[in-house]
Amino acid sequence: MKSAARAALDLIFPPQALDDGPRPLAAGLSAEVWSRITFLDDPVCDGCGTPFEYSQGEGARCAACMARPRAFGRARAACLYDENSSGPILQLKHADRTDLAPLFAHWLSRAARDLLAQADAVAPVPLHRTRILGRRYNQSAEIARPLARMCGLDYLPDALIRRRATETQAGKSGSARRRNVAAAFEVPAARLGQVAGKRVVLIDDVMTTGATLEGCARALLKAGAACVDVAVVSRVKETANRPI
Ligand SMILES: [Zn+2]
Repeated sequence: MKSAARAALDLIFPPQALDDGPRPLAAGLSAEVWSRITFLDDPVCDGCGTPFEYSQGEGARCAACMARPRAFGRARAACLYDENSSGPILQLKHADRTDLAPLFAHWLSRAARDLLAQADAVAPVPLHRTRILGRRYNQSAEIARPLARMCGLDYLPDALIRRRATETQAGKSGSARRRNVAAAFEVPAARLGQVAGKRVVLIDDVMTTGATLEGCARALLKAGAACVDVAVVSRVKETANRPI
């Protein structure tokens, strides 16, 4: 029990500096916020990270993944995206709380440890440059950078570019989201060498239908990546109308 409690505390307050940022140990959630977050532990679907009620064997996939295989190989999410986890996640995205990013990276290092252990590199889902100008930073890159350092993997901040600013995904159905992101991503010619033959883990903050991540995975595979897996901070249980 003691070690479990310590592990829980480490998730709130990382025991050591995880990043070279100015305030690495300042990041943290109150115990009250943290205790309401639903962390997704094994057993989960190997394809999309959705939790199973009981173990169905290694590599087992949910009905949705069996019916329609994803463009990426495997996915893991650290927690459920719901009214309890959305606060800190939206704060990183919209409220300049970049100090939360190393904490989320720490969660991912745990939730996606098997995928990261087999990977060569991590790459963030890119924002279109017009969005970066508005927001000043890409929240996925803020998470991917310390994660790469923690896991000793290559960090590929610009292996993927978003060719056009896709319309917001909120409120769209799965097929509409897939159309919206079709061909939106590419690996620029100058970055092909970083990707070819590499096992890449894509990083994002929230997975809803997975359409954006699939668009990125297709672009990386087209550029010759050996395989593409996904690690996200949170995933929705089912499509819900939350602001993302
Ligand atoms: Zn699944």
